[in-house]
Amino acid sequence: MSLAHGSLVYEGKAKRVFRTDHHDEFLVQFKDDVTAFNSKKHEKFETKGSLNCQISALIFKFLEDNGIPTHFIDLRNDCWMLVQKVEVIPIEIVIRNIAYGSLCKETPLEIGSELAHPLMDLYYKDDSLGDPLLTDARLDLLSLVSSSQKKKIRSLALEVNNFLKIFFTGIDLVLVDFKLEMGFNNRGELLVADEISPDTCRIWDAKSENCQDRILDKDRFRKDLGGMIEGYEEVLRRIKKSL
Ligand code: UDP
Repeated sequence: MSLAHGSLVYEGKAKRVFRTDHHDEFLVQFKDDVTAFNSKKHEKFETKGSLNCQISALIFKFLEDNGIPTHFIDLRNDCWMLVQKVEVIPIEIVIRNIAYGSLCKETPLEIGSELAHPLMDLYYKDDSLGDPLLTDARLDLLSLVSSSQKKKIRSLALEVNNFLKIFFTGIDLVLVDFKLEMGFNNRGELLVADEISPDTCRIWDAKSENCQDRILDKDRFRKDLGGMIEGYEEVLRRIKKSL
């Protein structure tokens, strides 16, 4: 179902962002498109947008209830979310609790090894450059954020991880790693933005021992395992049951 909205501000791989009657509020529509490997792989899955919208809304609400500022205002229907307008910082903030994905391709760490402390990796958000990993020196060189903003981003991301890890553990889900985006609203406040969903998190079923069956996130699509929608549905079902 579509909603009354203003003009299109931005269309990404998984979402469209529209203006509203309020200059500091946007409407976000979650799309059914799924992409991987910098869009080299692309498919549509009916209900994917709605699942990610609902999961993100519940997670944002949970974070807000725990004092974490996010752009989320309200869920408008299954695929549409009302959010605060933010100036998104062009940095992808990845927090890792368990070694997987690019971390294992780029280091000798074994797949699935638990990290003693959460690791925060920052990537420059630019598809044409392939979202490269940023060093601290390159972050400074590009003047993307000030050093006090960098500290705030880091502590907010680690707080999100702490709350989500505990929440997920309570519903037998393992939060392996996830990507956050942040931005500043009109009042200059730093907010968690974008989405938090099985498209942007690696989530395993703690009740499963099997290293393929346990995957409930977009890796099912990346690895051609099938059952991606069923994985997302299971994540939503457990979150809904617990709240
Ligand atoms: N991620 C994301 N968008 C990106 C890159 C990564 O949402 O453009 C998420 C990904 O789903 C995973 C985490 O960030 O939960 C870490 O991804 P990684 O760096 O291991 O990259 P990948 O192995 O997915 O290429």
